Amino acid sequence: MKVSTAIRRFFLYDIVRGLTITIRHLFKKPVTLQYPDERWEMAERFRGFLGLTRDFQTGEENCIGCLNCEKACPVDCITIVTAGKGREMYAREFYIDYMRCMYCGLCVESCPTTPKSIVHTNQYETTGYFRDDLVYEKERLYDIWEKESNFNGPRPWGKLFGLRNMENEKRPAEPEAEAAAPAE
Ligand code: SF4
Ligand code: SF4
Repeated sequence: MKVSTAIRRFFLYDIVRGLTITIRHLFKKPVTLQYPDERWEMAERFRGFLGLTRDFQTGEENCIGCLNCEKACPVDCITIVTAGKGREMYAREFYIDYMRCMYCGLCVESCPTTPKSIVHTNQYETTGYFRDDLVYEKERLYDIWEKESNFNGPRPWGKLFGLRNMENEKRPAEPEAEAAAPAE
């Protein structure tokens, strides 16, 4: 055995060196996160799960069922079933298949409402035990946005002053059904 090796062993050099490194890391800021209690802060432009938005004052759905997002989606992962006609139209059913979504944001870009009825959120846990779990229906899409924006129901002053009703009153009236019908 070499003399240097004998000295190292005698003074437990390797053990002391290893413990020094361990002790040094005890006082450093950890780089790991205690997921799921802690989460990464995502960049401002991060495109996570899509959520459907509501009017903050009244709690009404912003979506007008125009189908623009469904048409704009390059992978056909949005399915909308509309109900009502003209300005009464709305999305009765709204599905997004997250197994196909590539988070391109084209649906958000094409949404004509202000504020946008469909938005990207910072949520990113795209996992599930079954394939069907990743087809999100309307209620879950609203839940995603509500969780993100801490929406706990309509603001009281919105109901009080009927802001949405005031907005509707400002809109031009629908043309009469008889007038729109072709002459016999
Ligand atoms: S982000 Fe892109 S792929 Fe996903 S639903 Fe919207 S348009 Fe479709
Ligand atoms: S989310 Fe926007 S683009 Fe899609 S149907 Fe609703 S209003 Fe139209």
